[in-house]
This record gives sequence, structure tokens and C-alpha cells, in this order.
Amino acid sequence: MSKIRTRIAPSPTGSPHIGTAYAALFNYVFAKKNKGDFILRIEDTDRTRFVEGSEQEINEALSWLDLDTDESPLKKGNFGPYRQSERLEIYKEYIEKLLTAGKAYYCDCSEQRLLKVREEQQSRKENPHYDRKCRYDPPIKTNNAVVRLSVALDGETEVEDLIRGRIVFENKLIDDQVLMKSDGFPTYHLASVIDDHLMEISHVIRAEEWLSSTPKHVLLYQAFGWKLPHFAHLPLLRNQDKSKISKRKNPVAVEFYRREGYLPEALVNFLALMGWSMPHDQEIFTLEEMINNFTFDRIGTVGPVFDVQKLDWLNGEYIRALPDHELVKLLLSGFTKYSKDQVELIITLVKERLKKLSEFDKFVAYFFEEEFNPNVELIQVVSGHSKNDTIDKLNDLLLEAKRIENNNWGKKNLEDILKNKPDQIGWSKTNYFQTIRVCVSGTNQTPPLFDILEVIGKDKVLKRISANISELEKLSD
Ligand code: GLU
Repeated sequence: MSKIRTRIAPSPTGSPHIGTAYAALFNYVFAKKNKGDFILRIEDTDRTRFVEGSEQEINEALSWLDLDTDESPLKKGNFGPYRQSERLEIYKEYIEKLLTAGKAYYCDCSEQRLLKVREEQQSRKENPHYDRKCRYDPPIKTNNAVVRLSVALDGETEVEDLIRGRIVFENKLIDDQVLMKSDGFPTYHLASVIDDHLMEISHVIRAEEWLSSTPKHVLLYQAFGWKLPHFAHLPLLRNQDKSKISKRKNPVAVEFYRREGYLPEALVNFLALMGWSMPHDQEIFTLEEMINNFTFDRIGTVGPVFDVQKLDWLNGEYIRALPDHELVKLLLSGFTKYSKDQVELIITLVKERLKKLSEFDKFVAYFFEEEFNPNVELIQVVSGHSKNDTIDKLNDLLLEAKRIENNNWGKKNLEDILKNKPDQIGWSKTNYFQTIRVCVSGTNQTPPLFDILEVIGKDKVLKRISANISELEKLSD
């Protein structure tokens, strides 16, 4: 069997899209499972949409996700990347072959004529298509002409899709598509087919939105007399409302997820779960495990919803699985303004609840910041007792806490001193300890209370309790 080779062929039109990462993952996995190659081809023939720097970003995103391509510019000694804009001579050579064989033809129909034909077809409720005028009445001059494929007028074109099975398209509904534009640049269809053939791509694995182009590609392969690759069209990623994923409803740039502090392993795991499943519905798995278990028949055809809450949950799982020192290193790589010592001091406490690295500073501010805004609304909710009763109990606490020597301000000692308080004063443990928690942190969700009291320190704890008492006193009864 010939070597398995897959590719992604993004257009460099901006920051790489999450859909590109999704296609890259499945192409990578299938190639690696079969000891094959995974190739990057930059489809940059549409110069109006070209964005400088985008190619570099694509490479960085792939490398961050650990989906490095073979023949990549980031790997020394390789011959990629493939850029279509550097291959124009190749496309010209092949278009000549089609013209000579009578399988393609020049067309010089003007925009206005094409528009008129389309309008007439629409008024007759026909599918808009080129009426093939130049196929039967060739233009005399060809310098400003486009080249079109001569598509058979009847019969059918079959696409055998590894995910969707056999799909049949009627030829009479397939347009005599443009292969080469009047400026000598190839269209996507032409360049993509020639490149997939010359680069010996064995499996074209891409998003569902390209499925309707595939019969055109099959016809082109046939016109060239080339062997078809295998095709697989991945389901489309969807927004919560089931529409095609779009930046209006969902962040789509890979870079967004990197900046938010999602771990690449978690993002890859999440993308793998989009439409594909592991045996026994295992939810957390490595890229290696995916490679070992990958088959096309585990991919569904229904477009999976890109559920950011699920991604958050997965990311939290990956964060917890990291050794503390690695998590500290990652946080210090640009996700926190706090020092190494500060981060190390609290990492085990906050690791449990962290979902994204970018949330870290917000989560831990109360440990370190001098400035503190009492949250007396929440205190009133969690205390479960009247304002005055709460103030009394906080004043008692303040006295008690003041008596604790600085060097005894440790979680064990604090627990010993405070653990029987609720019973003594007739409050439930929840009411009492939640009140203290909100007093010192401003929130009712924190790591264990005595741990945070120890880290925040006696000074700040006393100040915050006093500040809360003053704020409560200002409230009307
Ligand atoms: N240039 C197309 C894109 O931007 C490639 C589609 C394909 O994989 O054939 O996604």
C-alpha cells in the first residue's frame, strides 16, 4: 500500500481558525496512526484576502497544539511549506494539458452577460449555472479569458466519503466551473486538485462545507486521468444555537484559546470529542490514545456543538492533573502579575477550582491585595442572622483573633480556636464560617477557610473584619 499522506490547506486570511485546528487534529491523527505524513499547504492564491503574518501564526498554532506538520518550516532540513502562490507555473502547465485534451475551454463572457444569464435562469426557477456559450462558440482572443472545465452534460458523479458513505451528484447540476481566472491565478478547485495529486495526498480530510466542491474535484481528477484520493468530510462545528460556528457567537481564533489559558492538551482533547468518540465514551484522553483508537466510523455526521462550558470543565481537569511546579511555570509565563513566591504559596489551594489560567489573578487577588471591598450584601445572605447579631459575633471574633500571637497564626491553631465557636454561640457551622469567609475574601467560594486565613495573614484578616463591621454598621436596620 502506498504511504498515507494527509494535509491541511488553510488560506492565510488572518489568525488561524479553530476549524483549522479541528481539521488539523483529524488529519494528524489519521496520518500518525498509519505512520504517514501530515502536510501543510498554504492556499494563498486569493491575494485580496491575504493577511501578512498569517502563515507564521498557522505554524505557531499547530506547534502549540503539538500537531506539527511533517515538511514544516519550523523543522530544519525540510522542504515545506507549500505555498500555492509560488506554484503558478505548475498550474499553468496542467491547465494547458486540459485545454489540449479538449477537457477545458476558454471563456470570455463578460460579468454583465453572466449576470444576465443568471437572472434569466432564476426567473425560470432554474439553478444558476454557466450556460456553456463559449464551450460551443469559443472566443477568438484568449488573453483576458478564464478557463472552464467541460463537465459531462448527463450522468452522475459519485463521491465515496469515509464518514458519509456514497453520495451521488447529478452532472447536469454541476457547473462548468472556472479553473483559471483571467489573471492567470488558479481557482481553489484547480490548485487544490493538482496539489493533492502532486503531493501524493492519499486522504483528503476536511470540513463538511467542502463536500459540495468534491464532485467538481472528482471530475477534475477524471479529466486528468488521475487516481482519486479518499475523501472524508468532518462534521461542521456549531454554535450553541446549532448554526455554523461563527465569531459573532463564539470565539473562533485558536489564539483566543491560548490567551485565555486553555492548555493545548485540553483543547485538543475537546476538539477530538467534537463528533468523534473514544471507545467506552472515555472523555479524557491523550493525543496518543486518540491515535491508537482512531477510526473513521467513530465520527458522526451531526455537527457537534462547541460547548465552551465543557471545554472549561476539561481544562480544569487538565490543570489539576499538572504537577504544581509545572502549573506555576505556566502561570508565570504571562498569566499572572504575582511573583513566583506568591504563586507557589497558594497554588495547591486554588488549583482545585481553576478552570483557565487567565482567571488566576482574579481568583487569588484577595490573598495579596491590600485594597479590599467588603461584600456586606453577601455577608447578610450567608450569616442567616440579623445585622446586629452578625456585628456582635464579628466583634467577638475580632477580639479573639487579636489575642492570637503572630507566630501562632497557623491553620491548625486557628482551627482549634474557632472550631467550637458556632456551637457556643448557637449558629450553624455553615453560617458562621461562611460569614468569616466572605469577610476576608469577599466571596463565598474559596479554598478551605483555615488555609486562606493563614495565607492572608493576621494583619489583613483583622483589617478586613473591621472594615466589614464598619460597612455593616452603615446599613439601615
Ligand atoms: N483553502 C481551503 C480552506 O481554506 C481548503 C479546503 C480543503 O481542505 O480542501 O479551508
